[in-house]
Amino acid sequence: MTPLGRLIADEIRASGPMSLARYMELCLLHPRHGYYSTRDPFGAAGDFTTAPEISQIYGELLGLFLAQAWLDQGAPTPFTLAEIGPGRGTLMADARRAMRVVPGMAEAARLHLVEASAHLQHVQQDRLGVLTHLESVTDFPDSPLFLLANEFFDALPIQQFQRGPDGWAERLIGLQGDRLAFGLGPVMRLDLPGAEGEVIERCPAAPAIVTAIAERIAARGGVALFVDYGGWNGRGDTFQALSEHKPVDPLAAPGQADLTAHVDFAPLAAAAQAAGCAVGYTTQGALLVALGINARAARLTASGDSAAAGAARRLTHADEMGHLFKALALWPQGAPAPAGFERAGMTPTSDPRR
Ligand code: SAH
Repeated sequence: MTPLGRLIADEIRASGPMSLARYMELCLLHPRHGYYSTRDPFGAAGDFTTAPEISQIYGELLGLFLAQAWLDQGAPTPFTLAEIGPGRGTLMADARRAMRVVPGMAEAARLHLVEASAHLQHVQQDRLGVLTHLESVTDFPDSPLFLLANEFFDALPIQQFQRGPDGWAERLIGLQGDRLAFGLGPVMRLDLPGAEGEVIERCPAAPAIVTAIAERIAARGGVALFVDYGGWNGRGDTFQALSEHKPVDPLAAPGQADLTAHVDFAPLAAAAQAAGCAVGYTTQGALLVALGINARAARLTASGDSAAAGAARRLTHADEMGHLFKALALWPQGAPAPAGFERAGMTPTSDPRR
């Protein structure tokens, strides 16, 4: 067992079986042994690759998305330029480079990042220079907020509930001998339809994070764009562990694999609307095409970038990231819809999660 595995086993022996949310939190963010606290997991040599690490085009287009919204809302100065869960800082570096084409925007921006890993905070500081790291999304300055998040919500701890013969029960992690194993907690009063064996997931922290961001945007202006894999009102067990780009047993080596779950965008959109924002929802592929990825890739190809066309396909094609990844945008009611979200009917309806 890993050192973190021994700590987790001790906690289970002392306090009983553990929620999946507690397990994820310890595995990802334990200050000494957590996955994000101890390493830089991104890219070909790491455990997984994210859209900003695939191509500079991704961050550039998201930077232009923010720039268009900033212009549409009267170029407020100063404003908070923000990212939550910035990883290596690649997305923000590419976004800021693209924003420089807009006069006055770089000078007006005050960069604020929310990052839980002290190790990744250092990586981001080296990459991006002058910036402020915040503890929480509730700490953003009281000014217009232009915010990006890529593959942030999928890393937040989830709870799982499974329908047994007598009703729903939380899936908990306990010990079988010396090994970690899933089991079920006591039957709960949960008034939800579902066949026996069915699993549903909840991410308790996510709606509060969206509420804090949406309240600021509704009051002061701005826009937020959340891109992640997942869907709308999805069901089923989507908890997974990745190591060296391959799925592994999520209980086998705590702290040494990336743990994620698909994001359910429906409660996030509901939280944003309740806080006074307009929302739009689309696929990553449709958003990037609307933002001009094909023209940008063609220009890079013409200037000798042989990887640009392949990267654009990987980011947008239905068989690759284009459909699995979704984008949720929030903006102040009454402000123009941001680029890629103008079409009528773009507001959430329903779609299968997988
Ligand atoms: N956006 C980057 C990194 C995605 S990985 C990219 O697309 O490449 C998830 C990021 O969120 C990491 O930077 C991780 O350290 C951070 N993170 C995870 N949980 C967090 C939390 N609760 N609060 C703040 N940051 C968190």
